Parts: sequence; structure tokens; C-alpha cells
Amino acid sequence: MDPQPVTLRHISCSNTHTHIIHMASRTRLLWIRSRDHPGVYTAYLTRGVLMSLIVQKFGGSSVADAESIKRVARRVANTRKAGHDVVVVVSAMGDTTDELLDLAAEVTSAVTPSRELDMLLTAGERISMAALAMAINDIGVQAKSFTGSQAGMITDGVHGAARLVEVKPDRIRESLEAGNIAIVAGFQGMNRQSRDITTLGRGGSDTTAVALAAALNADVCEIYSDVDGVFTADPRIVPTAHKLNTVTSEEMLEMAANGAKILHLRSVEYARRFNLKLHVRSSFSELEGTIVIPENSAELTPTHLKEIPLEQPLISGVAHDRGQAKITVVGVPDVPGSAARVFGLINEAKINIDMIVQNVSTDRPNVTDISFTLDQAHGPLALQALEKAQAEIGFEEVIYNEAVGKLSLVGAGMKTNPGVSFTFFEALSNAGVNVEMISTSEIRISVITELSKLDDAVRAVHTAFALDTEGEATVYGGTGR
Ligand code: ASP
Ligand code: MG
Repeated sequence: MDPQPVTLRHISCSNTHTHIIHMASRTRLLWIRSRDHPGVYTAYLTRGVLMSLIVQKFGGSSVADAESIKRVARRVANTRKAGHDVVVVVSAMGDTTDELLDLAAEVTSAVTPSRELDMLLTAGERISMAALAMAINDIGVQAKSFTGSQAGMITDGVHGAARLVEVKPDRIRESLEAGNIAIVAGFQGMNRQSRDITTLGRGGSDTTAVALAAALNADVCEIYSDVDGVFTADPRIVPTAHKLNTVTSEEMLEMAANGAKILHLRSVEYARRFNLKLHVRSSFSELEGTIVIPENSAELTPTHLKEIPLEQPLISGVAHDRGQAKITVVGVPDVPGSAARVFGLINEAKINIDMIVQNVSTDRPNVTDISFTLDQAHGPLALQALEKAQAEIGFEEVIYNEAVGKLSLVGAGMKTNPGVSFTFFEALSNAGVNVEMISTSEIRISVITELSKLDDAVRAVHTAFALDTEGEATVYGGTGR
């Protein structure tokens, strides 16, 4: 069979050949037709083993101080020395972003997303990228750092929550070709129209990493944090939680959307869209982490296939979220159009809502109560909008409650298992947890509970689904801030 010609990203590194011979028996080969000598073919390994391009993202706790930066520098340099091209994305050191926000609060009365706030916050990543580049150069391996805009992260103009509109990492490619490790500041970009610097929203460095990995056609995107991977629950609350070896991107999306902070939600969406495999692992250990598998991947390699269990486990984990608030609009006239008016206002204010419950009031005729949940950050805005329209809609009052928590049970296996909801609600009831609201999807059940009961609820559900292990999960760093 005549091998199909292919274009490789690049073939460099002369010592690659020795590796190829060494590893050929274990991996797939790629045949390249020689340009200069027609008819001559060379076998190369497919992407993923040798001369691969790896994107590594290090979160704030992994680069919290000089020692940590040096540790990460050694790790990155070792990846490079093993023959891979490496692009590194860094978050700001430790709690720098929070500290910068505190600083903003000291110099201005209202800290709202703005051009200047983005200028301030992006400084955090600029410190860590330069320090890491210096530390790597110090080991004798070439590294260069780039801001988001230098790396071609082009966004819309929404300060504080910018979305990527284009990723053009030309300078990163050039830098790799020149033999450098390229270090990119996470969480930031630039808007072409205003030429201003933007940020992607808290936790956005994951999205920077995934977007770069997709644009550079990287073989894998490794997300390094202070835990060994994705756990069945937050190890800070459930020490008996266990690490998942694999999780589908569908399940990971549900977990991230429902409060699991291990990955930025948008990074999971992005990876899924581009069929990119993520490896979530710890920068403090050499352990294999969790592989997030794009389940619709047309490009699943034999290794991927081995990673997907034949039968999905029932449950992949319990996620929780303390950042929600509940609004109850009391005494809404029970006539067609009331709900539309309430949610029309919320929509006009561009506020995302999550769960909704409407209860016909039993003691008062012809009125109803509508409750919904939203991000605490949007609470004041929603209240304002509703209070302004009180007379027009004709409701009695609005109750706002931030002392609520959301618990979500996620698992692809629950689609086909009718016993799941029973076990779930029984566990909550045995733990004395009152359920205020419920919502479900094909692979998730979520409830709103009293905030003070949330941790107990997480532990109870985790235990009820036999997710506990003997060992204690290690949390290596981070302040959890
Ligand atoms: N430093 C930013 C934050 O703390 C971005 C990130 O860590 O991903 O939100
Ligand atoms: Mg951070």
C-alpha cells in the first residue's frame, strides 16, 4: 500500500531517531515520504509519544513562591529534555489575584470589571511568567515568556469575562522553532478594536492553556494543580474521596458547571469542542492524574480506548457550590404572563439563572411564589431589577438568601439506573438535610440546601454511593481561597 503523504508540524531533533528505534514496537508509526528523494519513506512515530507538543498549565498554588517556581522550572525543563516541545501557561503566584482585588477595593469604592482592573489583574500572571522563564534559563534550558496579547489571544471587549474570538499563536510557534520553551501568561488577552487588555474571568488560565493547545495542535494539555487529579468530591471536604483515572468531558462539564473548581468550565467546553484530551494532575507528585476524554472523539487512539471503561461507573462524583444565592418573589399574581415578566427582567439584566421553582401558595388564593437561584455576584443586580418592577408585576416582596449551597451528583451511569434518585434522597434525608430545590439532567441531580448543611450533605451522598476509599486524598498546597 502506498503510504499517504502527511505534513508534519516539524521534524527536528536529530536524536529522535534513536528513540524511534527504541520505541517503535510499542507505538503506531507514521510514514513520511521524503521530499528530496521520491520513493524514500521514513517511519516516524505518530503524535503523542515523541517530539510531541505538550502544553502544561500550572495553577497559582504550583507557583506560589520562589521554591515552587524552581520546582516547576525543573519539571518543565525535564519535559523539554525528554525531547518534547513545551508551551507553559501560568497563573498568578498563589493568591496574587485575590490580593490585587483587595488592593483595588482599597483604592476605589466600587470594584467592577473595567479596563483598569484588567490591567491590574493581568500583572499577576506577568510576574509568574517572567520568573518561571528566568528559573528555566537558569537551569540551562532556553525559555521565553509572552503576555496573552503577545501570544495571540484575541478576545472580545468584555472586561472581566472576555471570550476568545481568535487564537493566533504565531510568536509561540516561532519561539518553539527557535528551541525555546514558550511561557504564556494565563487568563488574559487583547481586544483588537479597543486595543485594550482583557481577562477571561476567574480561573481562566485553564482556558488559555486549552485554547493554545487546540491552536497549536498539541498532543496533550496537562493541567497541573495541588491535587492529584479530579476527585469524586472535593478532598478538602471529603478526605476519603478518590481520584478518577478517567472522566468523560460530558461528566467533567457537569462537575465544573456545578462548582468543581479543578477545571475552568470554559476550558472543558473548549477541549470538548476541539477533541482535545486533558490530563489533570499534581505538580507536587509524579502520579498519573485524571484523563478527561472527549467522548465524541473521532480520533480516539488505541491508548484512549483502553482508558474508557466498558461499563461507565454509575457515578463519577459529587460537586458542590457555595457561590449561589436564592431569590424568592413572594405573592406573584397567579395569572398568565407573571413568570414571563419576572424572568424577562432578569434576562434584560443579562443574569444567568439556574434552578426555578414555582409554588402555588396554599393559604393565599390566586397568588404564587417563584424562587430561582443565581450566582451571588449577580444578586444585587437582580434585586434592583425586581424591586423597580414591583408595582408593575404586583408581587408582595422579594426574599434574598445567600446562605444556600448546591450539591450535584454527576454520573453518566445514572441515565440507565432508576435507583439513583432514591439512594440520593434517602442519603440526604438520613443526614437530616432539607432539600429546598431540585433540578436534574440526564447525568446529574442537583439540590439546593441550607449552606450550613452542605458539607454534611456532600459526605452523606459520597458515602451512600460507595465512593469512599480507605486512604486520605492529599492536598499538597493552596489556601483554598
Ligand atoms: N489568576 C487568575 C485567578 O486566580 C486566573 C487563574 O488562576 O486561572 O483567577
Ligand atoms: Mg489563581
